[in-house]
Order: sequence, then structure tokens, then C-alpha cells
Amino acid sequence: MARSGHSHPFTSASRGSAGAAAPVGGSGGLKPARLELCDVTVSYNGRPALLDVSFAVPHAEQWAVVGPNGSGKSTLFKALVGLLPLRAGRVLIHEEPLGLEKECVAYVPQREVVDWRFPVTVRDVVMMGRFGRQGWFRRASSEDRRVVALSMEQMGIAELAGEPIGELSGGQQQRVFLARALAQEPHVLLMDEPFTGVDVATQEAVLGVLEALRSREVTVMVSTHDLNLAANRFDGVVLLNTRLVAAGTPAQVFTPAMVAEAFGGQVLLLDGALVVDRCCPPEPPEDGR
Ligand code: ADP
Ligand code: MG
Repeated sequence: MARSGHSHPFTSASRGSAGAAAPVGGSGGLKPARLELCDVTVSYNGRPALLDVSFAVPHAEQWAVVGPNGSGKSTLFKALVGLLPLRAGRVLIHEEPLGLEKECVAYVPQREVVDWRFPVTVRDVVMMGRFGRQGWFRRASSEDRRVVALSMEQMGIAELAGEPIGELSGGQQQRVFLARALAQEPHVLLMDEPFTGVDVATQEAVLGVLEALRSREVTVMVSTHDLNLAANRFDGVVLLNTRLVAAGTPAQVFTPAMVAEAFGGQVLLLDGALVVDRCCPPEPPEDGR
């Protein structure tokens, strides 16, 4: 497979250059995969949370990750950014082993895992996207400040810039963390349940950003409990249940057999719509709002 140069998608030199006219998924897989897992196993205390998982998300596509509670979605994201060690297998970003390309991957964790007592403002948090793993002590350049302001504006939180992060609503916090990810100007954006416990306006804002990222050829992976959203707004779907149940286009993945295998009796496929039986799955408690 040919390896493309990977100049930055947001820099003026590369913006809108490479293959902007190529329809997503229409080129028969000629573009290199930006994100690839090969036989990945991740365990906690010897118990696998992900087992032998392999799939690839093609360049510039937007994929959803779905599966019941405890199926390994969050584990998958953490493994992809190197927060958890792989017990077996490998992760490739731009066809390079994990670690060489860390800076170009932005990760928005599931909201409940963030420490909201951390005494920083919205602007500070978004600025962290600029500094990445180089740490806090680099001075912000005017370019850093410009990108931070733009990212806050895109997420509709510019007027909250001076507010302490802990005092925002759940939806506002979600937007702050997406703004931080945007400020990082990533090639790959990973978001763990950005639609859980947020208001409709935030959900729309997140979906709007995803649309905007299409023209920048950012590869996106988002976990969600909303199977209809996964089926209707994403190019591909990964269906997890510790093992990979299926990966492919929504039509390939959301067959009655696959859905039953992953969710058991919790989901019904009715006339093409996916109906989740809400009484069964225990939702994690939402706090920190
Ligand atoms: P999901 O995000 O799909 O709900 P997770 O990736 O959070 O699933 O969890 C997958 C499995 O790993 C679950 O059985 C969960 O209990 C377990 N697990 C997750 N995090 C830890 C941890 N830090 N220590 C031990 N087990 C964990
Ligand atoms: Mg999770």
C-alpha cells in the first residue's frame, strides 16, 4: 500500500490539497488507512477487555464504535492513545507504530473520568491542546492564541473563556474538551461518548464540527450508545463485545444477526430502525454537571 506524505491537514500549505474531490470510500481503499488495529488484546488484571481485535479506519472517514456497556469501547480508545499497554497485537497510525505519531491524535475521554476540581479556566484547558506532551511551560505564541480562540468560537464557548472548568454544565464541559482537541489540529480525532449526558444543542454542535472536519480530511472515531446515529451519520461502524463482532459500513454491520450477537435481547431491528430496550442496560451514573 502506498504511503502518502502526511503534512498537516490544517496548515495552509496542505489545506484542501490532496484528493479533496475523492468521495469517501469511493476509491476502493486506495488511500492508506490512518488508523489500524491488528489482533489487539488489552487486559485488566489478566482479564481481557479487548480480545484479538482487528480493523482499519480508512483515511478521512468517520466511524462510530458501538457495543453494550462493558464491551471495551473506552478501553479501545485508551489503548489507541497509549494510555493502556497492549497485551498483544499492534496499533498503527499512518502506518507507523503507536508512539511515533502521538501528537497527531486527539482524544476526548468519556466525561466522567475527568477531574473537575482541577483549578483551570476554559481557556487554559483549550490551550493544553496546543502544548500536548511538551508540557505547560512553553509560552503561547500568537498562533497558539489564534487557534485557541478559533476553537472556542467553533464550539460556542468563547464567552466562557475565563470561567473555571468545574463550574460548567456537562454539555459545556464536553464542548471545552472538543475545543481542546480541535486546538491540537489532529489528523485523527477520537471521542468517547461525546453524546452521553449532553443537551441537544451540544449534540448538534458536536455533529456540526464533525461535518466541518470532513473537508479537512480528519479521520474520526466516536463511541456512542445511539445506534441510529451510528447508522445514519457515520461512514463505518465498529461493533464490539470484547471481541470484534463486525466492522464495516452501517449496512454491513447492522444486520439482525450481528446486532443480536453483540446486544442479545437489548436491541431490536424494526424496519431498518434500531430500537434499544432501555429498561435493561445499567447506565453509568452521570455526575459532575
Ligand atoms: P465500555 O466503555 O464499552 O463500557 P470499558 O472499556 O470501560 O467498556 O470496559 C470494558 C471491561 O473492562 C469491563 O468489563 C470493565 O469492567 C473492565 N474495566 C474497565 N476499566 C477497568 C479498570 N481500570 N480495571 C479493571 N477493569 C476495568
Ligand atoms: Mg466507556
